[in-house]
Order: sequence, then structure tokens, then C-alpha cells
Amino acid sequence: MNSEITVKTAIITGAGRGIGAEIALRLAGDGFNVALNDLNADALAETAAKCREQGVAAECFPADVSKHDECEAMIKKIKERFGTIDVLVNNAGITRDGLLARMSEENYDLVIAVNQKSVFNMMKHCSAVMIKQRSGNIINVSSVAGLHGNAGQFNYSASKAAVIGMTKSAAKELGARGITVNAVAPGFIQTPMTDALTEEQKQAILNLISMKRYGTVDEIAGVVSFLASKDASYVTGQTIEISGGLTM
Ligand code: NAP
Repeated sequence: MNSEITVKTAIITGAGRGIGAEIALRLAGDGFNVALNDLNADALAETAAKCREQGVAAECFPADVSKHDECEAMIKKIKERFGTIDVLVNNAGITRDGLLARMSEENYDLVIAVNQKSVFNMMKHCSAVMIKQRSGNIINVSSVAGLHGNAGQFNYSASKAAVIGMTKSAAKELGARGITVNAVAPGFIQTPMTDALTEEQKQAILNLISMKRYGTVDEIAGVVSFLASKDASYVTGQTIEISGGLTM
């Protein structure tokens, strides 16, 4: 393990399960100390225990990332605990699917708050730390729905498209300070989020994927690991689609 890398700290939101938990494990394996966020403290503790098996420090910071004050307080605590914030992965996200005509205002607002405003909350306070350091890597988890739209996901697509716009704007603002900002846009990945789809929906999706299978969480974590590494030091403002050839 590279001793220079072990002192670096990565924050991962929504790290209790699914893609976020796998990203946390991968970054721990890369030698990052990890600051783990989720709503679910019990799930977070499990992820933290697995990360510690990689020989790094892992601490849990339960908070609701849709709440600006909670994010500000959490980032202050993480900075105090670890000293630096080198990587931020904005992964926490939810779906409240439904056709536009039947979508409630409550489900629209909730998805925008958790998937979109959270990215503002986290990036605003983490980038302030990174600007002082003159280094950092921010990786936002968007979705193919944000790139191409998806019937039944008006709210979700809006939030994930916004994340791509935020990624590009921040990349332009922060590039001169040595900070990269990129997004990944997963396609259909096997997680509790996609387990909720009906068999009919799952089959219809498979028919559209060139590789004829769902992606796995480690296939997302691998790209995030690359974007957090020195190998991606000249990559910024980009959105990498990870979808097995859903679109091209
Ligand atoms: P998941 O299994 O539902 O995990 C999401 C995690 O985020 C959960 O642990 C959840 O906590 C946490 N979370 C939800 N709201 C939060 C909040 N307000 N504050 C802090 N944590 C919160 O989802 P996933 O499939 O791993 O998805 C991860 C990311 O990838 C999301 O941004 C999603 O939109 C994106 N994505 C997923 C797919 C896919 O196919 N799965 C495709 C494209 C993009 P609780 O357990 O307490 O709810």
C-alpha cells in the first residue's frame, strides 16, 4: 500500500448499502481513510467494519444529505477527525417513480432534495476545504436517466440531469484550484433499487442492453476508483456512462 495515499480521506454518501457501500470498500482498498455517510447508522457500521479490514480508518457520520445544516456540520466533523478531505463521492440517492400525470408534488420535491440539493450541500462545504488544500477529486453519481430521460422517472431524471450540470459548472470553477469534478452515469445495476422493478420491467430493460446483463456494483466502484486516482488527474467535467452499452 502506498503510504502517501493512506493519509488521504474520502467521503462517500449513501454508503450503507448498494453502490455506495461498494465504492467505500474499493476506496478503502485503494488506501483511503473513509468517512461514511448514510441515514441508516446500523448499515453504515457494517460498511465501516468491512473497510477497516482493509487496514484504513473508517468512521460513520449518519446524516440526511438533503439537509444543508446537517451536511455543513458533518463536513466540519470529518475535517476535524481526518484533517483533509481529498475525495467526495456524492452517491446517496432515491427513486419515487411514477408517470408525470400522477406524480405528487411531495415525491417531486423529495427526489430533488435527496438527489440534487444534497450535491450542492456536500460540494459547497467540501470544495471550501479542497480550495484551501488546492487539491481534491469530486465524483457525482448521476444516471443514464439524467443523460437520456426515462418514462416514469420525471423527478429522478430531472435530479440526475441537474447533477451533470452541477458537475460541469463546478469543474469550470474549481479546475484552476487543482480540483477535478466528474460524474458517473450508471445504467441498470443489480442493487435493492433495481430489485424493486417488476419482472416485466427487468426483461424490457435487458432487451435494450448491448451486453444483455445488469451491471454489478463493483463495475461502478472501479470507475469511481479511477476518477479518484492520479491516473485521472487530467480528467474533469466529464460524465462516464457505465451501462453495458445501453446507449452509444
Ligand atoms: P440504494 O441501494 O437504494 O442505496 C442508496 C443509499 O443511500 C441507501 O443506503 C440509503 O439509505 C442512502 N440514502 C438515501 N437517502 C439518503 C439521505 N437523504 N441521506 C443520506 N443517505 C441517504 O441505491 P443504489 O442503487 O446503490 O444507488 C446509489 C446511487 O446510484 C444513487 O444515487 C442512484 O440514483 C444511482 N444509480 C443507481 C442505479 C442502479 O441501477 N442501482 C442506476 C443509476 C444510478 P437508507 O438505506 O437509509 O434509505
